[in-house]
Amino acid sequence: MVKKVSKPTGRYAILGDIHSNLQALEVVLADARARGCTHYACVGDLVGYNGNPRECVDRICELGAVTVRGNHDHYCAGPDALEGFHPLAADVANWTRRQLSPEQVDYLRALPYQCVVDGFTLVHSTLDTPEKWGYVFDRFEAEQNFTYQRTSVCFFGHTHVPLAFERTSEVRLGLYNKIKVMLGRRYFINVGSVGQPRDGDPRAAYVTYDLDTGEVELHRLEYDIAAAQRAILDAGLPARLAERLAQGR
Ligand code: ZN
Repeated sequence: MVKKVSKPTGRYAILGDIHSNLQALEVVLADARARGCTHYACVGDLVGYNGNPRECVDRICELGAVTVRGNHDHYCAGPDALEGFHPLAADVANWTRRQLSPEQVDYLRALPYQCVVDGFTLVHSTLDTPEKWGYVFDRFEAEQNFTYQRTSVCFFGHTHVPLAFERTSEVRLGLYNKIKVMLGRRYFINVGSVGQPRDGDPRAAYVTYDLDTGEVELHRLEYDIAAAQRAILDAGLPARLAERLAQGR
């Protein structure tokens, strides 16, 4: 019997770098529902930095979101030494390890470094060496990634800066609000950060991707930053982490 391959349809909400910020995540999920999203995907870093790791992992599981592993997921759920982590991030990773249930640890440990779903790719850092957690900020780093990208669109995170790269005969980059995916081109799109934006705009970021129209759209949303800051301080985590939320850095 020949299996009929039908073109995927529907609208995805693509989230990344949630980092245990439940207040931001709730606002993003409400907005995604209001925009008629039918599917959810996540480019990793569910945990780290903020005060609600358990709740954030549960939300993403409940949604059945297709998710890849971020460096914070890797280190917060694994036995590895916190190599190369900034001391601030290492403190939180140790605290996060103590918060997660054994089931949540298993879930995070089982996340793949990359995956393809409905014709597009998800990765936390970069497709050339995803386990090395490299940062893609420029055209040259993006070119390395494109060598390994087999789908027209790949979404990524890690830098917490929503920036898109487009490859035609050359690689171009830029900030974006909307992208219309064109045939024959490749796109490597950073979806920004739900829980700790670093582009100077403290609002939560996420992307919708409409499979029917080929449109990618970036959304920025106000949320209760003061409540997220309280969660950090109540957990006894470094005050610097609360301050940076308000600065978007
Ligand atoms: Zn991150």
